[in-house]
Amino acid sequence: MTGPPRVGIFGGTFNPIHLGHLRAAEEVSEALALERLIFVPCAQPPHKRGSAEDPIAPAAERLAWVRAATVGNPRFEVDPLEVDRSGPSYSVETLRALVPRIGAQAPVFIIGHDAFVEVGTWREPEALLTLAHFAVIARPPVAEGTLADWMPKCLRDDVEVADDGLSARHRAAGNWIRIVEIRALDVSASDIRARLREGRSVRYLVPEAVIDSVQHSGLYAQR
Ligand code: ATP
Repeated sequence: MTGPPRVGIFGGTFNPIHLGHLRAAEEVSEALALERLIFVPCAQPPHKRGSAEDPIAPAAERLAWVRAATVGNPRFEVDPLEVDRSGPSYSVETLRALVPRIGAQAPVFIIGHDAFVEVGTWREPEALLTLAHFAVIARPPVAEGTLADWMPKCLRDDVEVADDGLSARHRAAGNWIRIVEIRALDVSASDIRARLREGRSVRYLVPEAVIDSVQHSGLYAQR
């Protein structure tokens, strides 16, 4: 790396956005000295299906909540490109669209280790890894392991993992992949949705700025 990359991209379903997302974004921004961190809510997650019991809120609502929850942080931005594009949200297409807009330096794609281990099943995983650096964050329940363990099989030949297992370099593109240690909060959107279904409190899990809107939307309430 010739200098710290300064722009992070944080994709997700954000169904709904929670304090685990915000705290992770803040810690990664600090650890990597990011100047900008762009949240990218997806339109339709290719790997998650909603159901009548556990729905995915409409993209427009999730986008609005992400905007409202991040507005107070000058480093945070929200890009609606996946919602505007609609259909399944493939990160490889998102990066192809965003990278030219961001400028010369490759951005840092921020991803939980739970999602990173699945990257081999994403669209064009080989290309994806050439388009950005990857900051892999361990989130609770914290998995034992290193990048060598978490690297999807189909990508193992494309990267060289350092001896300590904490970082790797893409052999052709030169991008890095590294574990960024954060004190992640044990908060998940599925747990929040379960609480809302059960009529329980989600205060201090969902950002103050959106809690009323999330609750009053009734989108996650018991049907
Ligand atoms: P769900 O519980 O519905 O699967 P989620 O809480 O995992 O949702 P997503 O919107 O799918 O939320 O997550 C977007 C990204 O944020 C993913 O890379 C995920 O690993 C990461 N992430 C989610 N929650 C946390 C957390 N508490 N700490 C750190 N990273 C998180």
